Parts: sequence; structure tokens; C-alpha cells
Amino acid sequence: MPQGAEWLIRETADDVFTPERLSEEHRLIARTAQEFVANEVAPALPEMEKKNWAVARKLVERAGELGLIGVDVPESLGGVSLDKAAAIVVGEAVGEVASFATTFGAQTGLAIIPIFCFGTPAQQQQYLPRIVSGELIGAYCLSESGSGSDALAAHAKAVRHADGSWRLSGEKLWITNGGFADLFIVFAKVDGEHFSAFIVERGFPGVSNGKEEHKMGLRGSSTTPIVLQDAKVPAANLIGEIGKGHKIAFNVLNYGRFKLAAMCTGGARGAIGEAARYALGRRQFGQPIASFGAIRFKLAEMTTRLYAVESMLFRTTGLIDRAIAASAHPEDGATAAAALEEFAIEASLLKVASSEMVDFVVDENVQIHGGNGFVADYPAERRYRDARVNRIFEGTNEINRLILPGTLIKRGMKGTLGLVAAAKAVRDELMAIAPQDPQSADADHVTVAGRVATSLRKTVLMSLGLAMETLGERLPHEQETLMSLADLMIDAFAADSAARRAAQASSMSHPLAALHADAAVVIVHDAGLHAEATARTLFGSMLDGDAQRTALAALRRVLKVPPVNTVAARRRLADTITSRRAYPFGA
Ligand SMILES: Cc1cc2nc3c(=O)[nH]c(=O)nc-3n(C[C@H](O)[C@H](O)[C@H](O)COP(=O)(O)OP(=O)(O)OC[C@H]3O[C@@H](n4cnc5c(N)ncnc54)[C@H](O)[C@@H]3O)c2cc1C
Repeated sequence: MPQGAEWLIRETADDVFTPERLSEEHRLIARTAQEFVANEVAPALPEMEKKNWAVARKLVERAGELGLIGVDVPESLGGVSLDKAAAIVVGEAVGEVASFATTFGAQTGLAIIPIFCFGTPAQQQQYLPRIVSGELIGAYCLSESGSGSDALAAHAKAVRHADGSWRLSGEKLWITNGGFADLFIVFAKVDGEHFSAFIVERGFPGVSNGKEEHKMGLRGSSTTPIVLQDAKVPAANLIGEIGKGHKIAFNVLNYGRFKLAAMCTGGARGAIGEAARYALGRRQFGQPIASFGAIRFKLAEMTTRLYAVESMLFRTTGLIDRAIAASAHPEDGATAAAALEEFAIEASLLKVASSEMVDFVVDENVQIHGGNGFVADYPAERRYRDARVNRIFEGTNEINRLILPGTLIKRGMKGTLGLVAAAKAVRDELMAIAPQDPQSADADHVTVAGRVATSLRKTVLMSLGLAMETLGERLPHEQETLMSLADLMIDAFAADSAARRAAQASSMSHPLAALHADAAVVIVHDAGLHAEATARTLFGSMLDGDAQRTALAALRRVLKVPPVNTVAARRRLADTITSRRAYPFGA
């Protein structure tokens, strides 16, 4: 059974899941979703931006008809019983229209997962088939004005009546689909103390929504407060146990973060194609701007950053699917919840990496469009505004960065992952002998990239070991250190996943194998340099004198980033992007 964060601790098997290994069935569902988005969703966006929620509702229903809402929900509950990879390719396709992706994400992740993973069979039968078909629109009510990141500090209250039913009061804020949802997953504290989750229908007395928020982006997605004025909720609508709402909230976020990454990769892919096409059409100084090195560098950089996130996303998807398939009851909601929890570190990592990647991509898309990028006549402007919130919702990137090393250390302390032993082994190895030199002359670029990726993983373990040793119990409170550790983990996972994907492309003689190698070489090289700077800052902040000098010497020994011509690699990437007028990799 694959374990979360295992990639960091030990050399795992090479058979990483990648977009190149998608099945025919995956590709078919991806095509269905892409056609739906291009032919039905994108043309309806102007209406949704006018807050015409009847249009959004119809599109959700249509997605249900096409089987896109319940791709990974069992057939017995109205779904299609496919795997998480199928849900990811659908998420990528929908990510092209960010406003609808947000509506769709609230439906498929935030509304379905609590009931599927934690609901009773009766709750599942009552609600899931109707959410999966799009008949019922769902929403997820966790945040309040005073409790966003600190979600467990909610003030919404639930009090039990003598007949077992509940009375809910409070106000939830920024609720996606709030303006037209039929069903809300509401978190409230029983007797003001025990954080719990409830299924609340719009039709229950005392439930209403406030006014639409005027937002920087996602203007075609409804965001409103939800007001609960002594709302009467049946006894049967409590989800799970009283006081265990945090388990539901955090697991739903795990899934939401993982799915958000797919929406970000889908959005980035669209922006890269758009940037390439604009750059080919726009002429300055007598030639297309696509012929200028500065623009070509941008297109290649946008592409490598997307490649890195896509590689991590599909690798994680494969691990989750393997964990589910290996379990005794693969169709059970509890199995999905356990698998998502196992890969919580990867979900947070993907959330941070994908939202920062897409922000970079849409920003460069505006830059390539010049003045046209700043006016609303071109989609680049909307893409830019729409992407910004990804770093805020589903847990801000600061909170997710804290979760990364925090969860890893907790698991390390429990001894389930062998983290402490692995960190110690790396330290002993570094102090004793020089590790294998990644520059050895006989190796090809992909092999070298793989070795550098391995040394990056060792850099994380060494840094983590030093932080635990030096800061001890203070570590969970040293946020600057935790942020740096999170960045190192992201660089290591990106480099390792990209290098393995390129090696796989080469071993399967993929027609774009050489281009995969170029992307991986750039990613690994830049991750190595970035990680070196991060580690130096980290060591400088927690060590001094001889201890600092020893750690820096060990860093130099472990992390050797051989010089490669990344400009030439980027030029080759830019050639393919411009000739195909699109991001060249992926599903
Ligand atoms: C368009 C949109 C849709 C949304 N949809 C939903 C929805 O459907 N359901 C729902 O429940 N919520 C939803 N949200 C709310 C969203 O989840 C919250 O905005 C988010 O969790 C951040 O909370 P906050 O806004 O209160 O920021 P705060 O928690 O006030 O954070 C402000 C800043 O402080 C930082 N910070 C906070 N705590 C710490 C800490 N311990 N250490 C370091 N830094 C910290 C944050 O990272 C951030 O930079 C939505 C928000 C938006 C904008």
C-alpha cells in the first residue's frame, strides 16, 4: 500500500503515473469534458458573469447528464465508478473556465465528499444521486467573518430539540454557490462547543442567503453569505458524530486541494496556448513577437512550471488510486477518505504549487499580450483576475505551507514513516563520505536530473533533521523555518516527479521524449538552485559558527547542480509550443 510522503523518505518504484499513461477511457472522458466546456460552458460565461444563475444551474445539470459530476462516485449512488484519474482529467478540462470550475468544484468535492465519505447509507441514498445528476446544487459552509483560516473557531451554533432535531444559528461567509444552492454542508458547534457537520436544505425554515459579493475575479461564480436564523434541521441530518466535524472539514479540504490543482493545471494550459497564439499573431519591429528570445523564454518557463505541477498531480493521483484499489472495500466512502488523508501532505503541496504556478502563467500571459492584456476585450485579463483567489481559498498558501512540514513531522514522531531514521541516515552519510557525484560524465541529462532530484530529497531530510534537532519543541512555532521546509519539499517533489516522468517518456520511446527531457532538465536545475538558496537561508537562521559551516559543507556535498544549457532547452521547448500553438504535453 503506497504511503503519503514516502517519495521523500525512500527510493520508490519507478512506475509513476503520468498523463502519458492515461487509458483510452480516461481520454474519452477528458474529451467529453473538453467539448462540453468549449461548446456549452465558455459561450455561457458572459451570462454567468451577469449573475444569471439559471444558466449556471443548467450547466451543472448538463454536466450531470454527461456523467462528469459523479465520475468517481459509485454507480450505486448514481455515479460512474471511475477512478480519481478520471476526476482529475475532468477537473483539468473544467479549469479552462475558472468561474464554472469553482461552481463545479463546490458541487463535486465540497458537497459530495462529506456525504459520500462520512454520511450514513440513508443520507447517501437520499442526497447523492440527486447531487450527482445535477438536480441539487451543493455548497459548503465552513468560513465565517471571524474564522477563515482558524475554521474551528466558528461561532455558528447547533442546539438539539427534545425531539432530536437541531436548531442552527449563525452566519457563514463567502459561500460558493450560495446564491442558488439547494443544499448546504454546514459546520456549527453543538452547544457552542462541539464542532459538527449538518446537511441543511434551502427549504428548511430559517435558511437564506445574503447579497452577492463583488469580487476581483470569478465573477461568474456565486459567492454569498448564508444566514441561519434558528434553522430547523432534522435529527437525521447530522453528518458523522457530534464533535468530529473537524475530521470531515479537513478531509474535504484534502480532496478540494487535490482537485484545485487539476483546475489550476487546466487553466494554465489554456493560458499557454492563448499566449502562444497571440505571440505568433502580434507583430512588432516587423516580426511576430513569438520570434523574440524574451517572449520565447517566457513561453518555455510557463510550460516547464506547468509540467512540474502536472507531473506531481498525476503521480499523486496514481498513488491515491493504487491505495484505494488495494483496499478491501474500494467503493466505500471511508476508503476514499482514508486514502485522501494518507496523501494530505501531497494535497497541500499541490495546492500551493499549482496556485502559484497558475498565477505566474496568467501573469506572463498578460505580459505577452502587452496593453491588450490589460483590457477586458481579451480573455487574458479575466484569467489573471480569476486565478488570484486560488492562493486564498481551500486553506491559504501560508496555512498549507505550515501543514506540509507540520504533518510530516507529526507522522515522523509517530514512527509510521521512518522519517527520523531516514533523516539520521542522511546526516550520517553526509558527514562520513561524499555522495555519488551527479556530474559523472557517462550519464545522460535525464539520468543526471534523476540524481539531482535524489540529492534534493536528501537536502529536505537533512534540513528537516537539523531543524528538529536544533529547534526541538520550538519548531512548530518557527514559521519562517516551516515555510522554508515547505519550499524545499515542493522543489524536491517537483524535481523528482518531473525527472521520473521524463525517464518514463524515454523508456516508452514517447514521440516527445526529448522534449520531456528538456522540461525535466530545466525544472530540476532551477529547483536545485532555488533549494540551495532556501537551505542556506534556513541554516543561516538556525545555526552559527562551526555548526553552520559544517551544515553548509554538507549541503555543498549533497546538492550539486551541474551546469546545463537551460536556455537552449527552453528554446527547443518554445519551438514546439509555437509550432503547435499549444502546451505540448499532457492529456
Ligand atoms: C471566492 C471565494 C470563495 C470561497 N468559497 C468558500 C466556500 O465555498 N466555503 C467556505 O467555507 N469558505 C469559502 N471561502 C472562504 C475561504 O476559504 C477563506 O477566505 C480562506 O480560508 C481564508 O480565510 P480568511 O479570508 O478569513 O483569511 P484569514 O484567515 O484572516 O487570513 C489572512 C492572512 O493571514 C494569514 N494567516 C492566518 N492565520 C495564519 C497563521 N496561523 N499563520 C500564518 N499566517 C496566517 C493567511 O494566510 C492570510 O494571508 C471562499 C473565499 C473566496 C474569496
